[in-house]
Amino acid sequence: MTVITRFAPSPTGRLHVGNLRTALHNWLFAQKMGGAFWLRIDDTDDQRSEERFVESIRADLAWMGLAPAGEVRQSARFDLYQRRFDELVATGRVYPAYETAQELDLKRKIQLGRGLPPIYDRAALALNDADRAALEADGVKPHWRFRLDETATITWDDLVRGGQHFAASTMSDPVIRRADGSWLYMLPSVIDDIDMGVTHVVRGEDHVSNTALQLQMFEALGAPAPAFAHAALLIGSEGKLSKRLGSLGVDHFREAGVEPQTLAALLARIGTSDPVEPLIDETVLAATFDFAHFGRAPARFDEAELAQVNARIVHQLPYDAVRDRVPGGMGKVEWDAVRPNLARVADAAEWWQVIEGPVAATIDEADRAYLAQAAAVAEAIDWTADPWHALTSALKDRAGRKGKALFLPLRRALTAHDHGPDMATLLPLIGRERALQRLQAAAAG
Ligand code: GLU
Repeated sequence: MTVITRFAPSPTGRLHVGNLRTALHNWLFAQKMGGAFWLRIDDTDDQRSEERFVESIRADLAWMGLAPAGEVRQSARFDLYQRRFDELVATGRVYPAYETAQELDLKRKIQLGRGLPPIYDRAALALNDADRAALEADGVKPHWRFRLDETATITWDDLVRGGQHFAASTMSDPVIRRADGSWLYMLPSVIDDIDMGVTHVVRGEDHVSNTALQLQMFEALGAPAPAFAHAALLIGSEGKLSKRLGSLGVDHFREAGVEPQTLAALLARIGTSDPVEPLIDETVLAATFDFAHFGRAPARFDEAELAQVNARIVHQLPYDAVRDRVPGGMGKVEWDAVRPNLARVADAAEWWQVIEGPVAATIDEADRAYLAQAAAVAEAIDWTADPWHALTSALKDRAGRKGKALFLPLRRALTAHDHGPDMATLLPLIGRERALQRLQAAAAG
């Protein structure tokens, strides 16, 4: 069996971090199983769907490196939905209902008032042909419900949640099509999952009760059901799904200097028993991906943790991956030298400035004589091999300094920073001419 997964966003807004996580789960599982990951655009609602969001979804997935094997759009598949709908009407699994929203609301209030669950009473099923004809002659157009088999206990073995049981008698027959002919999400999704050969539906636990209803639709359409995995939802570090978290998308992360590999490394592991690690290689993430490791508790998304993972990802990024984003002129040697000191790729500019100069160092008066000595030594040493080692070992004897007193004034004078990349790597990049100039300027005050 070839595994087929799909990510099925509605193009009614930008993807947020929760959606990205669902997309990633689908992609990782398909990768791991040697299967295919599809993008399905759930755009049956033409009032709320917008083309610009379809485009942003594609771009966001591309940024994350989640390339789909293909894309289907629900709006291009209405003929298929109509055909399958007609079959279900013919077999009595879909029926017309005529209540207005107000009538349904009133029914619910009465049921609740009597302490009864607000389940649709199927009044529409009691109508005969003449009743329906009369309603339609009055201009009342029906909406359509899927008739559940109320005797069934719906069960499935969820790959995350384990055994699930729902008594169909506790659920309302879901409305699947509006009076204007437009489709609600529920049935087209099942028709597509059958048609696309989806083997695993991987989504958030907010869909668990939909799954119970959809399982009956698979059966009614004569198709085997896919496997289901419902991941626990995402919460913020403050312990709930905040408005802010629900609005964080790719733009935010890109602007904050978060690498796609960082987001993937974090989102793949939070909410699982596997530790979050700065894994830059997605084949490792895929190989270790396992629904059995998913927990039932919400997955905690912490931006501070994200920033930490990001630094450790940046430290591994090869020059080729950042070439277009580092200052012009910065080559592989400079990148490799400064990379261990970066929290974000954009911070490379700061160290490029240190290499290229000018730098404005603050020097202690007490160090000026020492730095004059350093300038003189620096003129004499061999710059072709290991100038930092040559400079400091010569100075050690001459100035009678060691440790911090030996190194820090030099680092300050040469870089205008107290911390930074290894001086042995940095000094050759600064080079003889600029180094001498900086040491002399620091000595002169
Ligand atoms: N369009 C649905 C959503 O975004 C898809 C759910 C599903 O994966 O079936 O919630």
